Amino acid sequence: MATPENKLAFDGGWDYAPAPESTDHARIDKRYGLFIGGDFVSPEKGRYFDTINPANEQKLARVAKGSELDVDKAVKAARKAYAGPWGRMKAKERGKYVFRIARMIAERSREFAAIESLDGGKPIRESRDIDVPLASAHFFYYAGWADKLEYAFPGRRAKPLGVAGQIIPWNFPLLMAAWKLAPALACGNTVVLKPAETTPLTALKLAELIADADLPPGVVNVVTGAGDTGAAIVTHPGVDKIAFTGSTGVGRIIQRALAGTKKKYTLELGGKAANIIFADAAIDQAVEGIVNGIFFNQGHVCCAGSRLLVQESVADEVIQKLKDRMETLIVGDPLDKNTDIGAINSKMQLEKIDSYLEIGQQEGAEMYQSSVSVPKSGYWCRPTIFTGVAQSNRVVQEEIFGPVLAIQTFRSFDEAVEKANNTPYGLSGGVWTDKGAKIFKMTQSVRAGVIWANTFNKFDPTSPFGGYKESGVGREGGLHGLDAYVRLEA
Ligand code: NAP
Ligand code: MG
Repeated sequence: MATPENKLAFDGGWDYAPAPESTDHARIDKRYGLFIGGDFVSPEKGRYFDTINPANEQKLARVAKGSELDVDKAVKAARKAYAGPWGRMKAKERGKYVFRIARMIAERSREFAAIESLDGGKPIRESRDIDVPLASAHFFYYAGWADKLEYAFPGRRAKPLGVAGQIIPWNFPLLMAAWKLAPALACGNTVVLKPAETTPLTALKLAELIADADLPPGVVNVVTGAGDTGAAIVTHPGVDKIAFTGSTGVGRIIQRALAGTKKKYTLELGGKAANIIFADAAIDQAVEGIVNGIFFNQGHVCCAGSRLLVQESVADEVIQKLKDRMETLIVGDPLDKNTDIGAINSKMQLEKIDSYLEIGQQEGAEMYQSSVSVPKSGYWCRPTIFTGVAQSNRVVQEEIFGPVLAIQTFRSFDEAVEKANNTPYGLSGGVWTDKGAKIFKMTQSVRAGVIWANTFNKFDPTSPFGGYKESGVGREGGLHGLDAYVRLEA
């Protein structure tokens, strides 16, 4: 039956019947404490905040607001575990725990996927097929390294750093927790993790899983809270390493706070990736790549293809095909398996995106929005493109973190490179062409940590990820990801 949520806007098109994922199997408690020293404990100051479902603005749970007192407790619990059972454990045994976490995430994948979509607003198709399997894959991958570090660093002895403070954002809550925890644990560190304020639930479910996996108390601690909770982790003298994923603005504050200290750090920050389409590309495939790069997951992706650079001779064709495709995207209930674009993660983020829609128009760009219908309650943004933009426009230079694409054209290879590189960021990029030589030349010319060729947003735990310029410091994933959690001795 046609509902506003699932109606395809094509003339003479078809409707999909709603296919909502059941949430019966997802257990969410009314209230969560902090996971410290292997137990859920009340916050010292007794403060809690609500986490809501951004698709309907309904409250899901009350979550503890950790203060600096709680952070201190968590760091001490992590230190005790590091000095005790975890630090003394043979690498081979440590690896078995990490394998166990990987297997248990896979076993509980349906519950994790449903809760990820409820708490963060992302489509179930994505949490089910991308976030949760990749999170499990990261633990599997790093579990394998635990007792093989001598092969990762031949001729050197790799020692853990100690207590790692890890701060993560709201766009891939479980996956970012896995990116951070898996290499840290495999290398023998203990951890204090802070999830984002709007998406704490899967990190708390992961804490339950870690307790069920019988990890020694204090090896992993989860302290929920707001920005000041994160700041308390950064400045705590008992922390040996900070791993942060989030905005470039907060990354700068953290880097400043860490300057002159002995703490090691990695920062994974923002991006403004260019998807570069040459005239010789497979155009239909490229249009799908653009859609996948910026519209899926509501554009809440640090490496999203938020800029399109299209060769002039095919620009009209590509833009028309893109507009047609935008009309068929389904925006709505994140739990519906037909949904392409879920809810914007928070009211604040929606306001930020809306402000950029204003800015783009004030700067003189032409805005086009898909006419798809969106639900009445909750936070939503229609897929949007800007054409007629200049390189200096804010919608070209700044990260919007929503389903908003800025489109520019180019004539020559060099012009594409020049435009692609002309932002403060350098996290990712995409190139679409049928010429292998052009792909290789482009990957050497675009200054970004990852470049996809004839595809976009593909991830694998064996592959390093990280930014150039203002997109960050250090790499996560793959062999490179181990380096961030060890001290090398002769
Ligand atoms: P954010 O505002 O920087 O927050 C990230 C995390 O830091 C959250 O847990 C946040 O807590 C915490 N935080 C806020 N202020 C802090 C402070 N002064 N000290 C320590 N921690 C603090 O970023 P976001 O809006 O959540 O996430 C979106 C950003 O993440 C985008 O810029 C995106 O590009 C980036 N991102 C980058 C990557 C990558 O790998 N490069 C991956 C994903 C996302 P609260 O939630 O409580 O504010
Ligand atoms: Mg939420």
